[in-house]
Amino acid sequence: MTLLLLGGTAEARALALVLADLGRPAISSLAGRVSDPALPAGRVRIGGFGGPDGLRAFLAEQQVAAIVDATHPFAAQISRYAVVAAEAAGIPLLRLTRPGWTDHPQAAHWSWVKDEAEARRAAGAASRPFLTTGRQSLQSFLLPWTDRQVLVRVVDPPEFNLPPGWRLVRSRGPYGYQAERQLMTDHLADLLVSKDSGGSATSAKLDVAADLGIPVVMISRPEEPGSVPRVATVAEALAWCIRR
Ligand code: NAP
Repeated sequence: MTLLLLGGTAEARALALVLADLGRPAISSLAGRVSDPALPAGRVRIGGFGGPDGLRAFLAEQQVAAIVDATHPFAAQISRYAVVAAEAAGIPLLRLTRPGWTDHPQAAHWSWVKDEAEARRAAGAASRPFLTTGRQSLQSFLLPWTDRQVLVRVVDPPEFNLPPGWRLVRSRGPYGYQAERQLMTDHLADLLVSKDSGGSATSAKLDVAADLGIPVVMISRPEEPGSVPRVATVAEALAWCIRR
């Protein structure tokens, strides 16, 4: 009997490490989106399952007894599929998701939007935005912001060319305050666009934006299936795993 850990986050890697140290059988699953992923400890599989049916088949084949969905808060599809597959297989599912930034001291001053289209509208005429919403959302800004001086930060480069005025920075967090301040100052950023990813690894940009008076457009998290028990820390997830 083993545990399936849906990953792609620092929290998932931390949980995989503790489970491996304790000798508990677990398989970490990554989507395979990035070219050089930080690999979790223990057994790892990479790539989609083929929808909820594929995931269910995997659960049966590997005799999975429980699932921890520790995917990124914006990875909404795999989280929905995990609910369907866990229900069909009759096994327990836990959601491990770090708290968002709604409690950040500046949160009330940000423009909260529901998606990229709203983010573009909320951005108004900002001419030098710093776009940190990830590679998958770049497409939605490409045409409308062709003539703007956009600073884009991604882990892997997009598969299409960016407009000449765009500057691409490839890196992976965590990011510290000083480096973020330098980056945003050098670019003369007049707007920060972010997803409400939460956590401390990428939150320095929010403090810099506050200190430099740069407005923030924040994309809210997608809704999560309400019926799934949820914890916010690796320690709580570990306790749940051990109980099982
Ligand atoms: P998504 O839209 O929710 O999922 C799309 C498809 O990718 C799923 O249907 C599934 O394919 C596959 N998939 C996603 N996560 C998987 C996993 N952990 N193991 C195996 N297959 C997975 O996901 P996404 O937003 O593209 O994110 C992909 C991965 O990147 C996630 O694991 C997430 O934790 C990580 N990530 C995402 C973001 C973000 O902003 N979205 C940021 C940082 C890290 P099948 O239907 O074929 O099974």
